[in-house]
Amino acid sequence: MEEQHREKKKVGLLIPAYNEQEVLPMLFERLDILFSSHQEYDWEVMFVNDGSRDNTLLMLRQMYGRDGRFRYISLSRNFGKEMALLAGMDSIDADCVVILDADLQDPPEIIPEMLQYWEEGYDDVYARRNDRGKESWIRRCFSKAYYVLLDWMTKGEVLRNTGDFRLLDRTCVEALREIRETERYTKGLFSWIGFNKKEIVFDRADRLAGKSHWSMVQLFALAMEGITSSTTRPLRISSFLGLLISIVAFCFMVWIIIRTNFYGDPVQGFPTLMVTILFLGGIQLLSIGIMGEYIGRVFNEVKRRPAYFLREADGKLIRNNATRANKY
Ligand code: UDP
Ligand code: MG
Repeated sequence: MEEQHREKKKVGLLIPAYNEQEVLPMLFERLDILFSSHQEYDWEVMFVNDGSRDNTLLMLRQMYGRDGRFRYISLSRNFGKEMALLAGMDSIDADCVVILDADLQDPPEIIPEMLQYWEEGYDDVYARRNDRGKESWIRRCFSKAYYVLLDWMTKGEVLRNTGDFRLLDRTCVEALREIRETERYTKGLFSWIGFNKKEIVFDRADRLAGKSHWSMVQLFALAMEGITSSTTRPLRISSFLGLLISIVAFCFMVWIIIRTNFYGDPVQGFPTLMVTILFLGGIQLLSIGIMGEYIGRVFNEVKRRPAYFLREADGKLIRNNATRANKY
């Protein structure tokens, strides 16, 4: 019995923040309410300031000064959300970690429900959104089409309508930490590592303030990354297309030889020629592009650069990144 009360379980919250000064006060407040209504756990927040250009870092510093549970690290520049998540996972030490967005689109209020399932023995409790909030219909269409494509490419490995909002047991966090890919696609990694998963559904709110940091171009880049980092199927498809076209071309050749021999060859068929050349040219360029995507990824991985650099953590400047968790 004494053993039981020796230590509360420690729940870590990992929150990447990039130019989030408008939402931080509200976020602090909502988290504080959550913490005081669930004192059966030890709470700790790890903010990752991802090179913000506004007062985000200042506010994180102040909050840490007021309440030591609100810890933070600050990256040396904007590395993007995926890297911010990795940096946070390297720095946080808790029995389970909940990843959530700073903009309150992932309501902290459902964390207790996640914790319940975690206590039941699930390692990865992820939240699937019911509704994508007030996004423009173009974005909604693209997102739908993208997931259909991704589903088909990866054989359903990446879950639809599931963001990064999830609770991970320490074992999962350790596993993710070990993966040091510099072009990360965390959504794919979650399912790749496996472990015992549980889904819960929630209504995704609209962004509370500020604006989404993703432009269409960035979303496209992310989509490409999602596909090329989790599957080599596009390469397979271009080989298959090549084979298919060769077979058709072969049959066409046989037919042309026969026709020329029987009926002679009055010169014609310029349109056919053009169409064929253009079509093949297009397919070739596409295949080269697909190959290039993979080669680019290889290039970036073989450089073996550290994934990120820290500039500051919990009020202290970081002078030597090599001695910290970022040591891989
Ligand atoms: N974010 C980040 N670095 C970036 C872009 C975003 O850390 O370069 C954080 C951001 O502060 C937020 C989360 O990632 O906490 C999700 O960003 P956003 O709300 O812009 O994405 P969306 O909800 O539109 O997918
Ligand atoms: Mg958001």
